[in-house]
Amino acid sequence: MKRVAVLTGGVGGAKLVLGLQHMAQPVEISAIVNTADDFRHLGLHVSPDIDTLLYTLSGKANRAQGWGREGESWAFLAALRELGGEDWFALGDSDLALHVLRSARLGSGEALSTITGDFAAKWRITAKVLPMTDDRVATWLDTDVGPLEFQRYFVEQRCAPKVSRIEFRGADSARAAPGVVEAILGADVVLIAPSNPYLSVDPILVVPGIGKALRASAARVIAVSPLVGGKAVKGPTAKLMGELGIAVDNDAIAAHYARLIDGLLVDNGDPVTPGKIAIGRTDTLMTTIEDRVRVAEAALALASE
Ligand code: GDP
Repeated sequence: MKRVAVLTGGVGGAKLVLGLQHMAQPVEISAIVNTADDFRHLGLHVSPDIDTLLYTLSGKANRAQGWGREGESWAFLAALRELGGEDWFALGDSDLALHVLRSARLGSGEALSTITGDFAAKWRITAKVLPMTDDRVATWLDTDVGPLEFQRYFVEQRCAPKVSRIEFRGADSARAAPGVVEAILGADVVLIAPSNPYLSVDPILVVPGIGKALRASAARVIAVSPLVGGKAVKGPTAKLMGELGIAVDNDAIAAHYARLIDGLLVDNGDPVTPGKIAIGRTDTLMTTIEDRVRVAEAALALASE
C-alpha cells in the first residue's frame, strides 16, 4: 500500500485527508498536524487543528460552523457566562469532554501524541493523526494592535488586526513527536495540504527534526494550493499575504514552498507561471466527498508523474 504523509492545519487539510481516506485505492495515511495554534483556555489544553482532524475523520465535525462537533449542546457555555467566565472561545458540551480528558492526561504526564492516538483509535480513525510535536510551540503575531497569541487574533479579534510578522515561539527547540520523522522517511509521497502556508504549514516545517526529515526523504513532495479563483477559500490566508507584501497568487505559493516541493496542484481556472516544479490542475474546491477524493487523487497522480 502506498504510504502518504500529509502536513496539515485544520479545515483545508482535514478535507484533503478525508479525500485520501475515501479513495478507491486505499493508502496508508499519516497526518502530521500543526500544534502551534494550541493554547490554554480556562485551564484546558486546546488543540484546534488536531480536533478538526479528529472530528472530520470520525464524521463528527460541524461542517457549517467549520469547527467543533455536529449536534453540539451549549449548557456549559451558558453556565460559564452566568458566572462571568470568558466566553470568546466557544466550547460545546461534548467538545468539553475531549478537552477535559486531554488536559487531565497531559497533567498526569502523558504526551499529546499518545492521547491523540488513543482518541483516534476510540473513534476508529484509520489514518494516523500525529501532532507535529509534543513540545510547546506557540504562534505569535506582531500586529497593529500589538503582539497577539494566535487564538486571540484568529477567534477573539476575527483576524481584523494587520499582521507585520509571524513568530513560532519554541519551534527551534521543539522535537518532532514520535512517529513523525518515521512517517516522512517512510512515505512514498508527502502532501502539503491546502492549509494556510504561513500560519498552519510553516510552523510544522520549522520544527528542526521535521525539516531535516523532509530534506532526507526520497518521497515526492506535492503541495495543494489554498487559492481558488485567486482567493483563499476561507480564513485569513489572502488578507495575510497582502499584509506581508506577498502577491495573492499561485506563483507566490510555489515560491514559498520552492525548496521543498516537486509539484503544485492548482485550481483549473488559476494561472501559474511554468517553472522548475510540475504543475497539476483540477477543480480544487472541496465541497462534496467526491471533490475531496478528486483532489487527493490528482495530488497523488502529480506525484507519480
Ligand atoms: P484552519 O487551521 O482551520 O484555519 O485551516 P487550514 O489552515 O487547514 O486551512 C485554511 C486554508 O484552507 C485557507 O487558506 C483556504 O483557502 C484553504 N481551503 C479551505 N477549503 C479549501 C478547499 O476546498 N480547496 C482548497 N484548495 N483550499 C481550501
